[in-house]
Amino acid sequence: MKNINYTSEHFKRVERFLLEEYDIEVVYGHNISDAYYDSARIIEINNRQNIPSRLHSLLHEAGHACLRNEKRRVSFGANFPFMRKHGSSKRGDKDHRVDVVREEVLAWERAYDVAVQLGIDIDQDLWCKHRKDSLITYMEWF
Ligand SMILES: [Zn+2]
Repeated sequence: MKNINYTSEHFKRVERFLLEEYDIEVVYGHNISDAYYDSARIIEINNRQNIPSRLHSLLHEAGHACLRNEKRRVSFGANFPFMRKHGSSKRGDKDHRVDVVREEVLAWERAYDVAVQLGIDIDQDLWCKHRKDSLITYMEWF
């Protein structure tokens, strides 16, 4: 389904979900990177990017929040044994990098589930391009 008409209501839905499910607040700014800060309970989103890109980034970071907070049979720490506590954005050794790539892939998949759950009609073409470009940057680490 093609939908380039994302509105502030779509952002509000994701923000409400993050606050209600995980007590996480979203902050937008010009000079910040898209990121999720687990211990601070904050997601930062760069608002220089266009609206579709901004919503996809927000959903992706929400995907990270889900992965790191949901109750699962295997805890995040056990499932990502080579992930260092605070270093997922920094380049580590190959063991660490494998876990970073695994988390990135899963965060994109989880992000799509969140969109479906919240009734957000994703623009498939833009979504697939954004996900692909984002994953390539991590894969190029190797
Ligand atoms: Zn990510």
